[in-house]
Amino acid sequence: MKIIMLGAPGAGKGTQAKMIADRYGIPHVSTGDIFRANIKNGTELGRQAKAYMDKGELVPDELTVKILLDRVAQADCKNGYVLDGFPRTIPQAEVLDKELSRLGESIDYAIDVDVPDENIVKRMGGRRACVTCGATYHIEHVPPKKEGICDNCGGELILRDDDKPETVQNRLNVYHTQTQPLIDFYNAKGVLREVDGTKDMMEVFDSITAILG
Ligand code: ADP
Ligand code: AMP
Repeated sequence: MKIIMLGAPGAGKGTQAKMIADRYGIPHVSTGDIFRANIKNGTELGRQAKAYMDKGELVPDELTVKILLDRVAQADCKNGYVLDGFPRTIPQAEVLDKELSRLGESIDYAIDVDVPDENIVKRMGGRRACVTCGATYHIEHVPPKKEGICDNCGGELILRDDDKPETVQNRLNVYHTQTQPLIDFYNAKGVLREVDGTKDMMEVFDSITAILG
């Protein structure tokens, strides 16, 4: 099963992708997580990506496509995967499509988690991420047991640099101009499914499992 999560930054793609990955036993592949791991490890890719991420801009397709294709070529992706944060542009979607066609494969579902911009701004301001394992929380909706400390690994929880209010509006603009056209792209392929992302996270997950079966 090959699934793409679509939706604005902060819509809950990562939250749902992790639950899908657990339920269906497929890897959760997040290009944002791959970039953040590279930044943490001080790699050249991380250095290049950070300059764009800090401004709320997209990392250029030339850098992004290769890391994604390398990741999905790994053995654990053989039976499918859930992509979170990729594709984010039409050229990225076209490259993925071409690569899958070459292998005689295709995307089964593109799930659009729909959340209006007003809710997004609140969600991103309250998001906290673990510096060690990347787990995500929300100060109101998904609080950790102990404030500022990750339930999974005891790591420190921080507000991501790109979740600061001055960057969030730019990320939303980038989403509307560069990423939203993917909704029509996958609709035309007959694989688009919409879910109401404003609901409680378990309700959103129930709508998704009703689609995936
Ligand atoms: P994305 O991966 O789309 O950027 P996340 O999954 O990180 O978004 O979610 C953004 C923030 O909103 C996080 O703090 C998360 O805990 C919270 N969140 C996710 N889903 C819901 C929901 N259905 N209701 C309320 N808050 C949510
Ligand atoms: P995310 O964790 O998905 O919110 O991604 C964080 C940031 O990483 C984005 O704002 C972009 O700067 C960058 N990024 C992640 N995925 C992509 C992608 N597919 N294309 C371009 N930039 C990306």
